[in-house]
Amino acid sequence: MYCDTVIETETEDERNEQGRQHLLEHHHTELEQRFKREYTGDCQNQDCSHHFEATDEDEDHSGFVCPHCGFDHAEWYAGMLTVE
Ligand SMILES: [Zn+2]
Ligand SMILES: [Zn+2]
Repeated sequence: MYCDTVIETETEDERNEQGRQHLLEHHHTELEQRFKREYTGDCQNQDCSHHFEATDEDEDHSGFVCPHCGFDHAEWYAGMLTVE
């Protein structure tokens, strides 16, 4: 992951959940950079039609918060990464 923290838990579900929390608390900025560079797809708010385009140009991308509906993708994205 993003640092040397070792997460020890009884079950894989717990490990994924703690990994997700750890990413959100300690690596929010890195996650957001990666989201900008790698995520191309629709807003996760089903009522919203905004489409994200991955880009290296920071100013062309809103980051985790959808500019259209305000949905914050941080938790969703951290969840995607911890189960990969
Ligand atoms: Zn960490
Ligand atoms: Zn949206």
